[in-house]
Amino acid sequence: MSTTLVWFRRDLRLTDQPTLHRAAADGDRIIPIYIHAPQEEAPWVPGAASRWWLHHSLAALDAALRQRGSRLIVRMGDSLTVLRDLRRETGATAVYWNRLYEPALIARDTAVKAALRADGAIAESHQAALLIEPWTLRKPDETPYQVFTPFWKACLQKLPPAAPLPAPTLHSPERWPESTPLSALDLLPRIRWDEGLAAAWQPGEAGALAQLERFCATGLTGYAQWRDWPGRDGVSRLSPHLHFGELSPRQIWAATTEATAGAPLDDKGAASFLREIGWREFAHYVLYHWPHTPEQPLQERFAAYPWREEYGELLQVWQRGQTGYSLVDAGMRQLWKTGWLHNRVRMLVASFLIKNCRIPWQDGARWFWDTLVDADLASNTLGWQWTAGCGTDAAPYFRIFNPIRQGAQFDPDGAYVRHWVPELANLPDAFVHQPWLLPSAEQRATDFTPGLSYPTPVVDFAASRAAALAGFERVKNR
Ligand SMILES: Cc1cc2nc3c(=O)[nH]c(=O)nc-3n(C[C@H](O)[C@H](O)[C@H](O)COP(=O)(O)OP(=O)(O)OC[C@H]3O[C@@H](n4cnc5c(N)ncnc54)[C@H](O)[C@@H]3O)c2cc1C
Repeated sequence: MSTTLVWFRRDLRLTDQPTLHRAAADGDRIIPIYIHAPQEEAPWVPGAASRWWLHHSLAALDAALRQRGSRLIVRMGDSLTVLRDLRRETGATAVYWNRLYEPALIARDTAVKAALRADGAIAESHQAALLIEPWTLRKPDETPYQVFTPFWKACLQKLPPAAPLPAPTLHSPERWPESTPLSALDLLPRIRWDEGLAAAWQPGEAGALAQLERFCATGLTGYAQWRDWPGRDGVSRLSPHLHFGELSPRQIWAATTEATAGAPLDDKGAASFLREIGWREFAHYVLYHWPHTPEQPLQERFAAYPWREEYGELLQVWQRGQTGYSLVDAGMRQLWKTGWLHNRVRMLVASFLIKNCRIPWQDGARWFWDTLVDADLASNTLGWQWTAGCGTDAAPYFRIFNPIRQGAQFDPDGAYVRHWVPELANLPDAFVHQPWLLPSAEQRATDFTPGLSYPTPVVDFAASRAAALAGFERVKNR
């Protein structure tokens, strides 16, 4: 019986786990390992909210492995060195892992694979995070897709995916190698700001599968209708679970198939939901084909956009949810408190930062990177470049979200805003999205003073919109 190291990274689950399945099918003794090597992800080392999630997800994975007579071996350091050490200590002949798509990690994994093979080990990578590998799909002219709809159409030709794999039986080694305690990874914040995160989430595979089941039972049918309403329970909230690989897109496909009597693409809600899973695929596809996009606009002419020169204070006002625009502030406070933000509000706060504040999208992307529990280099980059109008299949640069109109359309009774901006809780519906217009009599009645109880708008919407458009005129014909 040979021994195999199964190297967990962002595939923190036991079901539909191709590497585990492969090792178990061969009847190997399996040593599950996690190597903490954040320096290898530089410059995109995981942010504070992601580290919080990772801690709890690793703890959940270890507990699930122990229930099956196994355990997670945790080590810190350079990945290749640790893998070589572990091979020496355990006599493992093979190392398996599931693929990741960030440029720094592709480079690392390629080097690790070559080095292990040169050592005489079996080194194999598998597909687990995506439905379609990015290098397997091109336009008829052999260039990569830049527009989502034809991309998704081409994906659908290759779908549905194979059925998810069950959790395998795990054979353990006779002696376990030493493991570093999880606490040594120092993933949790020293100043405990994480109560809001703990109240909102259950990291780990069990939490992910429960959330998927709940969403399929209660949210899937109405998804197309309610997905844009931040105050309703209309979306799946599966993004951090997907990012950390606590569940797979194949499992999502299977669950939506089951919930729709076998025909998810014929069901309005399920088809719309799977299309969003398609956007996740597209984000990884774009990052794979244009690895420079986390830092640089895909459309080069946007590099010359005339951003505001001094903006430190304005950036802070946005980060703290003190802009005076209710929906923007509600979103930024929800993000800070729970590590997550509804997609419509992500688009709005991003548009506000880029277009009304004229602050580079990269600054917003970095704040999201640190505060989102689902911070994902592919999806975050795509989201910010889409909103800025400088990426693939982007919103036109002249589309500038209006926070008041967005509020009236998607939060008409102000329920979302009232929840996250309690200063506005008692305002009449008509003023909750523009509190600075509250008449004096109503101010007295509600004990609300614009500028004192809550900030007045930090920028004038119409003037800032005009300035943004003037800036875009300057780069558009380059
Ligand atoms: C500026 C900006 C930044 C973003 N940053 C991230 C990020 O760091 N990580 C992240 O996972 N998503 C990001 N998104 C995409 C999207 O907002 C989130 O995936 C979604 O809000 C997560 O909530 P949900 O799981 O309830 O989504 P649902 O609406 O239930 O969608 C299901 C799944 O589809 C995927 N998905 C949905 N919309 C998108 C999208 N536009 N792009 C890519 N995948 C999508 C997600 O994996 C999501 O979990 C960003 C969007 C914008 C506009």
